[in-house]
Amino acid sequence: MKRIRNYIGGTFADAASGGWIPNVQPATGKVYGDIPDSGAEDIDRAVEAAKAALDEWSRLRPEERFRHMMNVAEGIRTRLEEFAQAESVDNGKPVRLARGVDIPRAVQNFEFYASAALHFGSESHYTENLGINYTLRRPLGVVGCISPWNLPLYLFTWKIAPALATGNTVVAKPSEITPMTAYLLSEVLDEVGFPKGVLNVVHGLGASAGDAISHHPDIAAISFTGGTETGKRILSVAGPQLKKLSLELGGKNPNLIFADCDFDAMLRTTVRSSFENQGQICLCGSRILVESSLYDQFKEAFVEKASRMKVGDPSDENTRTGAVVSQAHMEKVLGYIELAKREGGKILCGGERVRLGGELENGFFIQPTVIEGLGQNCRTNQEEIFGPVVTLDRFDSEEEALEKANSTEYGLSATVWTRDLARAHRVAERVEAGIVWVNTWLARDLRTPFGGMKNSGMGREGGFEAMRFFTEPKNVCIQYDV
Ligand code: NDP
Repeated sequence: MKRIRNYIGGTFADAASGGWIPNVQPATGKVYGDIPDSGAEDIDRAVEAAKAALDEWSRLRPEERFRHMMNVAEGIRTRLEEFAQAESVDNGKPVRLARGVDIPRAVQNFEFYASAALHFGSESHYTENLGINYTLRRPLGVVGCISPWNLPLYLFTWKIAPALATGNTVVAKPSEITPMTAYLLSEVLDEVGFPKGVLNVVHGLGASAGDAISHHPDIAAISFTGGTETGKRILSVAGPQLKKLSLELGGKNPNLIFADCDFDAMLRTTVRSSFENQGQICLCGSRILVESSLYDQFKEAFVEKASRMKVGDPSDENTRTGAVVSQAHMEKVLGYIELAKREGGKILCGGERVRLGGELENGFFIQPTVIEGLGQNCRTNQEEIFGPVVTLDRFDSEEEALEKANSTEYGLSATVWTRDLARAHRVAERVEAGIVWVNTWLARDLRTPFGGMKNSGMGREGGFEAMRFFTEPKNVCIQYDV
């Protein structure tokens, strides 16, 4: 049994309540550890520790913050294999994915924002016949970071790193469903002598520990990634307190596939963008829209590939598709597959839970599932499923493709496949999404703005956008031409 603890003020601690929450391994369905059931009292302690550390941390020179953050990056890198194994056990994702993507990206998040601390500048405006304005960008103070379970350490560090780089101190809560690598991160903080109280990691349920972060009067801002309904709840609590908010929420992303695309490259990437991480990436394309003249060819090839995907033990080096994150989530996804059938959808492949037998008999495995025959207005095509489930639909014109693509309340990302340069630009401009990929998917340059429009979020992360979010601009106007 693996028992993990909070990390508050540089000290490992149990929850004030003394309560514990079981931690389940998705591949086996068995409890393999427990985590502190923290609440308002623990968040209060973490905020006090963060307040005590704020003055010193915020006054460090950028070079010194850079050095501390690079030590954390190096500390994770040194234990990369251990982190990757832990992420795979905790989340159900293939260890290969955790080793190749999740953990290296967490290292990169720290390195990228450590270096951003060195490069971040502020604006100045020369005003003719008056003088000069310059803008100070000061840290906000104590900030809250709340992250989801799908890319546990990757998204946790994506928020924490810019908050630290800009001189804030942090109270952070990972998802209670996948807390393990956040705990290992607190071990790294301890090992490398990261200044105490600057980053506090509190484990617990969203409804208690998360809610206490939203309510806390001394938390100046919240950076949240998770579902749209949770985002709205946080907004309803933190909004009236005028906390600064960055909300990265759900998606129902369209893939627009035109007949003139590079078929092989499109097919390869579309399989990934549908099923990578068991479809549990906010950027996965779940509505595949194909130009009619290509539809049958695409359908045949795509279904053939999807039905050959082997669901397997996440710890096996050859596994590409592992378990979904929890029993509740598995039931939700299977429930959507049943709904799709009731709505008139035809299951082209998959559609069932997978029983792998032995130790993994009760694991949360689902076959990659492809559905066709549904209009865009049904619930299956309007609501986020967040699993290995995609729908196929066809279009006859660019106009119809856009109309279908834009028909949901979400607007996180979109993928466009075409060789027609003018069309690529036109569609990219008109598709309602904060992130558009043309002839690629999930290609990330960390300097670019990241986030969604419509109900997919508020604000942008990434690059200097995040550095601006975590700072308070103050304009100073100096008249010298008197
Ligand atoms: P949730 O919204 O359920 O949870 C996200 C985090 O918020 C968890 O740490 C959760 O804790 C916490 N939380 C829950 N309730 C509250 C509350 N009342 N107050 C404060 N915090 C709370 O999302 P999931 O973890 O299920 O993640 C999946 C969702 O995340 C999907 O909708 C996906 O699209 C979205 N997502 C968006 C991304 C983006 O960049 N736009 C990227 C990745 C995912 P606990 O787990 O303990 O309940």
